[in-house]
Amino acid sequence: MLYRELVRVYEALESTTSRLEMTEILANFFKEADCSSLRKIIYLTQGQLYPDFYPQKLGIADKLLLRAISFTSGVKEQIIQDLLVKEGDPGNVAQKIFQEKKQTTLFSTPLTLERVYDNLRRIAEAEGSGSQDLKIKMLADILHDASPIESKYIARIVTGKMRLGVADMTVLDALAQAFVGKDERDVIERAFNITSDLGLVGEILCSEGVEALRKIRVSVGNPIRAMLAERLSSPEEILEKMGGRCAFEYKYDGVRIQAHIDSQKKIKLFSRRLEDITDQFPDVVSALREAFVSKDVIIEGECVPVDINTGEMLPFQEVSHRRGRKYDLSVAIEDYPVRTFLFDCLYLDGVDLTESPFLERRKALEKCIRPSEDVRLSEIRILDRVEDVERFFEEALKDGCEGLMAKSIGEDSIYRAGARGFLWIKYKKEYRSEMSDTVDLVVVGAFAGRGRRKGVYGALLMATYNDKEDSFETVCKLGSGFDDATLAALPSMLEPYKLQRMHPKVRSKLEADYWFEPALVMEVLGSEITLSPTHTCSYSLIKKDAGLAIRFPRFTGRFRSDKDPREATTSIELVEMYKRQLKKIEE
Ligand code: ATP
Repeated sequence: MLYRELVRVYEALESTTSRLEMTEILANFFKEADCSSLRKIIYLTQGQLYPDFYPQKLGIADKLLLRAISFTSGVKEQIIQDLLVKEGDPGNVAQKIFQEKKQTTLFSTPLTLERVYDNLRRIAEAEGSGSQDLKIKMLADILHDASPIESKYIARIVTGKMRLGVADMTVLDALAQAFVGKDERDVIERAFNITSDLGLVGEILCSEGVEALRKIRVSVGNPIRAMLAERLSSPEEILEKMGGRCAFEYKYDGVRIQAHIDSQKKIKLFSRRLEDITDQFPDVVSALREAFVSKDVIIEGECVPVDINTGEMLPFQEVSHRRGRKYDLSVAIEDYPVRTFLFDCLYLDGVDLTESPFLERRKALEKCIRPSEDVRLSEIRILDRVEDVERFFEEALKDGCEGLMAKSIGEDSIYRAGARGFLWIKYKKEYRSEMSDTVDLVVVGAFAGRGRRKGVYGALLMATYNDKEDSFETVCKLGSGFDDATLAALPSMLEPYKLQRMHPKVRSKLEADYWFEPALVMEVLGSEITLSPTHTCSYSLIKKDAGLAIRFPRFTGRFRSDKDPREATTSIELVEMYKRQLKKIEE
């Protein structure tokens, strides 16, 4: 297939912000595409070469790209560099440079999708000495034959700045529309939720049909998208929702991991965002290897930092030392050891357990491990009385946990991969404060600082995610809760996401001084949720011409780098929190 056909689709996608139109454009293209190319098409459209969980990523430095453009076009690097400062987007730079040059280039071979993909793959794989030269060579090779518009997208993808805004759910909608229709969308979504690989799902659907997708099972090595919990603020509500009786577990405050242990006892750890984090937790890997009596398992748990002197659980932030590049990993492991509490088993000895009820999965979990000092099972009790739940909750807090996780024990209590629902309900200590819970908001803009904050950001413009529209809706200006170090670090943290204008997926009535691609997620606690004409969160949903806003928002100090922006608190969740708050006031 010719790369230009895909580029035509990119141009069409870029000219719209409507999710429906994007779906339509993609569906039409998928229908025509060759099944053997579909996988690559899907990855490339999302700016990737592989599924999300694959460690190899594109994202070479702008400098390398400029060198390749200079090499191919003969234009001096400094001129291209100046243009980049002016344009801000490497794609536009490549397009402009080659537009001027190409008029004189007569001979070039049309680029195929395969060749572009192959060169990009070799660029991503290149390592060690000589790799920079190889990258420039591979890039120059395709830029030489690219039309200006093709070079725009090559430049963007290779620097990790594709940003077409095509969400996973849009691809799933388009696949359904192209091949089977709306009725079978659930089958496609489930296949994605248990494999986390859109390319694989697309390829199977195209070449073998929906029946083959129905038969897909979880497999060791492919992360399963995490099941998520709803929240309620009292044991009464929880028990009522659960039919009077359910399991309650300690809700540990750490890092969620999904461990895959294969038949050779090789272990891979995935984060809640499905990143491969095996290298960050070698101690967890060896503790798990010791504790497991079975192989071929997928289990989930929470890694919690513990005090080396007292053995007590510490706040979540202490694990973040593992991620800091400045901190030597071996020192971090000694100073901040973690303990793993396992709470689910999704696969055991060739059996997919995601469709089994919770208590069966728990039994499987108990069967496959021999608990140790560092690997334990989560504390669990099956309760049906409010007083007992309150007592267990107090115990959980005393032991350093955040609260409880209620889990349905009904016949239908399957593991709902990738979904948030009432089969799991979280009950946390913050729910007893004024605004019921912290929220995870996405930075979409910033305002220049004044006075003491001159030179840094004065406030950030924060948004919730509207999952129906696939957009980001503003909900507050965040200016409190930052220490000096964070304030100083924010500009460079946000630099990679800086845009010339508001991102097409952002809905804002405020004019920010700086705009960002929605990427960075931060945890925020406010005093209450109010109606406001200034913010666009769930606009006109509760009251005409008013959105929801968070009053007196404070940053809790926790960057949610484990969350994708599309996993931030949704606009609808905020509506529900607002309603619950009203109910409490009435009481
Ligand atoms: P969410 O994961 O629901 O989007 P979040 O990341 O902000 O929200 P919380 O709201 O605090 O986290 O609660 C959910 C998280 O609690 C899970 O993703 C998991 O990491 C953690 N957790 C701790 N203990 C348990 C447990 N016993 N069972 C399930 N999850 C648990």
